Amino acid sequence: MGKTTGFLEYSREEQTYLPPKVRIKNFNEFVKPLTAKALTKQAARCMDCGTPFCHIGCPLGNIIPDFNHYLYTGNTLRAYEILRATNNFPSITGRVCPAPCESSCVLAINKPAVAIKNIEYALGDVARENKWDAASPPGLEARTGKKVAIVGSGPAGLAAADQLNQAGHSVKVFEKSDRIGGLLMYGIPNFKLNKKLVEHEIARLSNEGVAFQVGTTIGRDLSLASLRKEYDAVILAIGASIPRDLKIENRSAGNILFAMDFLTDATKSILDNRYNRKYSAAGKNVLVIGGGDTGSDCIGTSFRQQAKRVTQIELLPKPPATRDETMPWPHYDHIFRVSSSQAEGAKRVFSILTKKFVATKEHTVQGIHYKPIVWDHKKKNFTEQPGTARTIQADLVLLAMGFTGSDLAVLECNTTKKLAVTRQGTIATEQNHPYRTNLSNVFVAGDARRGQSLVVWAISEGRECARAVDSFLCAKPSALAAKSSASSRMAPLNANSVHENYEIR
Ligand SMILES: Cc1cc2nc3c(=O)[nH]c(=O)nc-3n(C[C@H](O)[C@H](O)[C@H](O)COP(=O)(O)OP(=O)(O)OC[C@H]3O[C@@H](n4cnc5c(N)ncnc54)[C@H](O)[C@@H]3O)c2cc1C
Ligand code: SF4
Repeated sequence: MGKTTGFLEYSREEQTYLPPKVRIKNFNEFVKPLTAKALTKQAARCMDCGTPFCHIGCPLGNIIPDFNHYLYTGNTLRAYEILRATNNFPSITGRVCPAPCESSCVLAINKPAVAIKNIEYALGDVARENKWDAASPPGLEARTGKKVAIVGSGPAGLAAADQLNQAGHSVKVFEKSDRIGGLLMYGIPNFKLNKKLVEHEIARLSNEGVAFQVGTTIGRDLSLASLRKEYDAVILAIGASIPRDLKIENRSAGNILFAMDFLTDATKSILDNRYNRKYSAAGKNVLVIGGGDTGSDCIGTSFRQQAKRVTQIELLPKPPATRDETMPWPHYDHIFRVSSSQAEGAKRVFSILTKKFVATKEHTVQGIHYKPIVWDHKKKNFTEQPGTARTIQADLVLLAMGFTGSDLAVLECNTTKKLAVTRQGTIATEQNHPYRTNLSNVFVAGDARRGQSLVVWAISEGRECARAVDSFLCAKPSALAAKSSASSRMAPLNANSVHENYEIR
């Protein structure tokens, strides 16, 4: 523990943002990072708890108190190495993770949590600036001669590729899109995650020996059966990209788009100046249906495209301002939050049921009819309020109501034995083998296994799946680092009990 009284002396301090009026002028990131001095104070607030709940709350099992200790004591390289030992892409999670670790932080019981996410952001960036994250390919002698194909290049596929390549296997990643990165590239907007950072990680993996092939849809351009023959193992990391639709009157009207079509189009036009953008929110009344992160990304993108007004509606009621009995510490607190995009000026309305789209004579959307609803929390259902339907005007409607499963249609048509799927539309796994499908050498990781989730979970799944594949290929327990747990650091850290045995990659 760096400073025994740090949590008493210092308050939580967080990164700040450029003002909304300034930041919506472009698609650049707008975070003003904490200074080195402020970061040291934040690290000093860590109490090095006997049972570090932060570490359990993190899907990667990041060893948070230990990197806080080294950051506070001035050994930033060591702090980064500890973070990197469990997290393949700290700069990415430092930007986009909702930080479940902070919800679990013991300090958060009666004070604001340690600013763990901001520390992660800083460690990732300082490592890049100092080239501590330079490519480090496994030696030729480490190569096993085994070949792994990974289908899908989102965070799950990339983390699995990184781990398996370091274990000595030859890895090739197949991606149907024109760029590597999955939702890190097309999905999460550039203002939240600069695409140069994603490209930086891809370049490192490539320099370390991972092969990439874009523009190749497995199941259409190459069959799953042929991959299974050519490679010793195949990982399906294809995400969960089927959007939930709203099949009500006038759904076919013009200017009603799925969020992902709108977001992908916007990012493509930033990355490729020969690309002609198909959609624009400029001068429009934009209505975003769905109150989650995807909806937020639509809001921020619409404002940057100079929308006249943006309204976001949500079926669920407004969450409480503070934890209630349904979300006790150390569980994630589903409280009312305002995302940076929502803070840019969106109007938010809760407990709304969309009854129909209203269309012009030319069959272009001009709004919705809706009914306010009242939720019964115990029965988990709602009733419509009496009275006639009300109207919201909109000339662009973005559907951001979540995802219903993976796009398996193409994969399945080329296999003799069908992949087993779950009722949630994801790929099923075998009992006692959480990453193994019913096809003998085929594995699954990320959203394709757990349903639409978080980047940090996708990385965690990619790492765990890599261990399962490594063990399958070598017919023995994998030597790749296992997800750490609180019990892996039994003794409280002090100057004489530093943990020197972390596996860095
Ligand atoms: C708009 C949006 C914003 C989000 N923002 C955040 C956020 O801020 N923070 C956060 O933690 N999480 C966020 N998420 C969730 C997060 O991005 C996902 O949970 C995560 O990317 C899942 O990773 P994955 O690797 O499993 O799948 P994906 O990232 O979806 O990658 C799957 C890849 O597989 C490819 N693929 C699919 N089928 C085939 C095929 N047959 N052949 C070849 N390639 C194929 C796809 O093209 C895609 O590139 C967001 C999600 C969305 C939709
Ligand atoms: S829960 Fe973790 S980050 Fe929070 S004070 Fe304890 S050890 Fe530090």
